[in-house]
Amino acid sequence: MCATRTQDIDATVEQAEAIRKAGGDLVRVAVDSAKDVEALAEIRRQTRANLVVDLQENYRLAALVAPHVDKVRYNPGHLYHHEREKPVREKVRFLAEVAREHDCAIRVGVNCGSVDPELKARHPEDDIAAMVESALQHCALLDDLGFDRYVVSLKDSHPRKVIEGNTRFAALRPDVPLHLGVTEAGIPPEGVIKTRVAFEQLLSRGIGDTLRVSLTLPNPRKHEEITVGRQILADVAAGRFRSVPVFDDDKLNIISCPSCSRVENEAFVGLAEQVREMTAYARDHALTIAVMGCRVNGPGETDDADLGLWCGPTTVNLKRGPESIGSFRYDEVLDRLRLELDRLIAARGGAGGKTSDA
Ligand code: SF4
Repeated sequence: MCATRTQDIDATVEQAEAIRKAGGDLVRVAVDSAKDVEALAEIRRQTRANLVVDLQENYRLAALVAPHVDKVRYNPGHLYHHEREKPVREKVRFLAEVAREHDCAIRVGVNCGSVDPELKARHPEDDIAAMVESALQHCALLDDLGFDRYVVSLKDSHPRKVIEGNTRFAALRPDVPLHLGVTEAGIPPEGVIKTRVAFEQLLSRGIGDTLRVSLTLPNPRKHEEITVGRQILADVAAGRFRSVPVFDDDKLNIISCPSCSRVENEAFVGLAEQVREMTAYARDHALTIAVMGCRVNGPGETDDADLGLWCGPTTVNLKRGPESIGSFRYDEVLDRLRLELDRLIAARGGAGGKTSDA
């Protein structure tokens, strides 16, 4: 995925080419505005990379981007935000018609952190079931419309949920191609380990047709996502398995988004690294800290974390679960994060037996 500003055409073309040359078959570009669409058309002219755009809440944007891309991705959990009175079936029909007209494929990208609220309510104890049901529903909608150029993804930041969700889905719809990914896997090497754990488990069972590696990396290194993915594929093909097949649930888990053009302050990647360093003392506590790059997905994607940070242009918004703690300057947020982390550890009776003085 390109993390450059889409309207910075030169930088985005350069990054798309770097990803393509590293072995990426499909490059994702973020589009949020009419100016981004204009830039996308020019990027299309200047790169040989196959392009995909991820539709956020404005599904109608598909009509503008489809002429310039090979695939569009929509998130079923985002189809509820706009035109609430309109049935989801009609929105999917619109997307399928646009894709058909412009010879595009579709990815139904279900994300555990943003599942359709109705399905979440139906499966309060089992978010994987909600994720799988959402994917099945949308496959049925596309099947009814006679649209078969689609692929499904079921992603989460935890490899266990990725393995479980994809395994359940594959058992029910073995005919549907699956795109694998551990979303917001974070900074290497932890992000690589989470990804490898999930991919090795799934690929070795014959599950998965395409994949994406999602790492928090500075722009000049974004293409390394491809190198990591290709290496995992080569290892699995050769029978070289490196992962301990269980990702440790009892430890501190730091998740961070891979960044994209929506990042409003480039300090984000550095902040994610500082969070990892600063919180090392709490490594034996079963807590999750999420660090997200923007206001588009940051507020929602941090809801399920014990502590969440999402980055704005000049401040970082700190959360405890879904509750906001406040906005802090980039140079002051780490101190407040540490305070909140200590409070959480103390509130849990110091489970894991560590304090911040360690
Ligand atoms: S959280 Fe925002 S910046 Fe990060 S990948 Fe998602 S949309 Fe892009």
